[in-house]
Amino acid sequence: KVVTRFAPSPTGFLHIGGARTALFNWLYAKHTGGKMLLRIEDTDRERSTDAATAAILDGLAWLGLTWDGEPVSQLERAPRHRAVAEELVRLGKAYYCYATPAELEAMRESARAKGLPPRYDGRWRDRDPSEAPAGAKGAIRIKAPAGGETVVHDRVQGEVRFPNKDLDDFIILRSDGNPTYMHAVVVDDHDMGITHIIRGDDHLTNAARQMVIYRAMDWDVPSMSHIPLIHGADGAKLSKRHGALGVEAYRAMGYLPEALLNYLARLGWSHGDDEVMSIADMIAWFDIGDVNKGAARFDFAKLEALNGVYMRRMNDAELLDIFIATLPYLEGGPAIAARLDDTRKAQLLAALPGLKERAKTLVELADGAAFLFVERPLRIDEKAAALLGGDAREILRGAHAALKAISGDWTAEAAEAAIREYAVAGGHKLGAVAQPLRAALTGKSTSPGVFDVLAVLGREASLARVADQID
Ligand code: GLU
Repeated sequence: KVVTRFAPSPTGFLHIGGARTALFNWLYAKHTGGKMLLRIEDTDRERSTDAATAAILDGLAWLGLTWDGEPVSQLERAPRHRAVAEELVRLGKAYYCYATPAELEAMRESARAKGLPPRYDGRWRDRDPSEAPAGAKGAIRIKAPAGGETVVHDRVQGEVRFPNKDLDDFIILRSDGNPTYMHAVVVDDHDMGITHIIRGDDHLTNAARQMVIYRAMDWDVPSMSHIPLIHGADGAKLSKRHGALGVEAYRAMGYLPEALLNYLARLGWSHGDDEVMSIADMIAWFDIGDVNKGAARFDFAKLEALNGVYMRRMNDAELLDIFIATLPYLEGGPAIAARLDDTRKAQLLAALPGLKERAKTLVELADGAAFLFVERPLRIDEKAAALLGGDAREILRGAHAALKAISGDWTAEAAEAAIREYAVAGGHKLGAVAQPLRAALTGKSTSPGVFDVLAVLGREASLARVADQID
């Protein structure tokens, strides 16, 4: 039975790369009918915060990436990490090292002078522990294999070989009794019954060191998959400008969780030419072995286009629900949420078909819908003000009269008929009437179709808004 895990360090938000790692773990677990566990790697006490843990859980929940069981705190497992380190000493696979900071610095210095990476020289490896300086608390180091190589059989990277001479006797338990990260990960993965490790390829060299610990404990090494990191569209490492943001920033920018998951899944993995895939499709099709080795490129324009597809595909009631649920997080959302009563909800629903044709994100949707939520007299933006210049106000006066004269039902069709008739009679182009009308009704130069706007606003509000601009 497959058991994967997502193991974030709670030092910040759930960033977009972490979200993709979580997604791949989740998809693989779902695909195989297995489980995904969650481990919070909070051993770095200075940099870990509860707020970050909460933000990570919130980000996963928003994306719908559920985990099985309770999240495991790595910090709370320190006694177990210590016990395994001591067990390794008893087994003769690890040893106490009493090298002083000055000695270690000298080793680093001499390596640096030779242009080599810093390396512990193994001076306590074969010394008798009775030689330990009185009262000194040693650190525990693992005995790395002296010759040969360590091979990581990676399902994404293939066979990756590390000469053992590059793996020095690294520390697994510090002299203060705290485990190193390298050691804690192995003990936790073993104890949690992890069968498949799926994580960023920045951990590939750690994998070789971790294998030394697995071998020393005679534990099975889980299947490993190191997935390529996400790069920017220009190929450079992902920066903030490229989208290296927390997932909550994507929520604030108005992306739908399903669209983001779909986009992330296709960063480094694909299924034929399928671009739009449901969660069920992804689960059915995903296999970790199909993930590409090469760095994936993050492209905002593609994400935006895909999000637009998702919005247009969604039925209006569903889209309205998710829009309303997202308002508290959305740029410009809280102002709308504060004014959302039943009438406006109904207006919004009526306006959605027009709005969603023009919006690729929920933020754009909010922007397009803003005309429903403003108070009279409307704030007219600069472009809209330009449309109300010249003889536009005169034209608007006539349009107001034409609209006021509608005697039957106030519908988009009735409004269109009245305005067309007025335009023809006055010798105006339709646009010369529609544009100032839109500006007066919405305060903006773009909006859903102006006749739809009239219909959604209703007779009274429409006439009042137009009147505001001609008095
Ligand atoms: N905590 C590590 C990170 O956030 C992941 C470690 C692992 O997956 O083994 O990068």
